[in-house]
Amino acid sequence: MGLDTLSRSSAMEDLSNKKSSHGILSHPGDIHCIIFHLVTLFAYGCAFWLYQHPEKIHVTGPWSRLAFICGAAIMLGWSSGIDLGVNFHNHTHRRIFRLNWLNTWFGRFWTFSAGWPSFFWWHAHIVVHHSNLLGPTDWTLPRIKPDGRAENMFWYCIAHWPKRSTIDLWRDFTSGRGQKGVGRKAIVELCIFAVLWSIPFWIDWRMALGLWVLPQWFANAWTIGPGMFVQHVSCVPKSTLFPVNHSNTFRSRFFNLTTFNIGYHLEHHDYPAVHWTDLPKLHEQLTDKLEAGKAHILPFGYYRGAWYRNELMMGDEFAGCRKQEELLATDIRG
Ligand SMILES: [Zn+2]
Repeated sequence: MGLDTLSRSSAMEDLSNKKSSHGILSHPGDIHCIIFHLVTLFAYGCAFWLYQHPEKIHVTGPWSRLAFICGAAIMLGWSSGIDLGVNFHNHTHRRIFRLNWLNTWFGRFWTFSAGWPSFFWWHAHIVVHHSNLLGPTDWTLPRIKPDGRAENMFWYCIAHWPKRSTIDLWRDFTSGRGQKGVGRKAIVELCIFAVLWSIPFWIDWRMALGLWVLPQWFANAWTIGPGMFVQHVSCVPKSTLFPVNHSNTFRSRFFNLTTFNIGYHLEHHDYPAVHWTDLPKLHEQLTDKLEAGKAHILPFGYYRGAWYRNELMMGDEFAGCRKQEELLATDIRG
């Protein structure tokens, strides 16, 4: 191992182990996570208040009310999707507080506004997705058709939440996947979630459907769904032959600034303990390795990635399909 490689790997070790705690926070950068979530909850509160006082914004007629609900649902849903799929995601890897009980309870008050018990999302992301990336038991990702290509993105987005997630979580928790006593823990967490999640229904059930359930559907189906689709589409499981082709990295500066650097997804999967604020630095450190492995580094963000999914992600030149064929050919020859 050359000196340069040695110094690089020790720099990565430093990034993984960096614990610059700040008061009750594990990392000073996590204040962004807390603010983002509180602003999201505040936005829901504002939308509820405006719904209850329609004369303040002149939305007293049925059509103006409908327009208000549709607009608010999209904006709340977009924020909620980032708040769960990216922001809470950071917390599942590196707890943001130094106090365990605070992590547990803040987590419960974090994910309920996106329609998930925190433990359920943690299980789906850590136990199911990270531990079995692109494997047969990773049910969080799009299903793969017999020709090796992913299913239709729109169908995946609609099917993933709540239908598939509910069925797969039920199977996991009833079969004891992940840890001892997981079923009982799931029931306790589901009860706590049910109490918190039902609060808007106590106020006004119609408001809850339009400004609580509808945004959460938008968050899961249309903010998180396309992101999960493009993160690993046309990729292959990590192996010595393809060490950096298990995930796609998206380098758009604007996208990463607004999504806690989630675009550096390849780096995140290889070094999940690295704090989200350090991912751009890690990307620079890994440049040679990524280039050598023909990693999929794209200059835009998830939204454009989803738009160009067919051309850029699933073309034979791009990634997984061709590599799978090469792998199969190697196996046959072997
Ligand atoms: Zn992750």
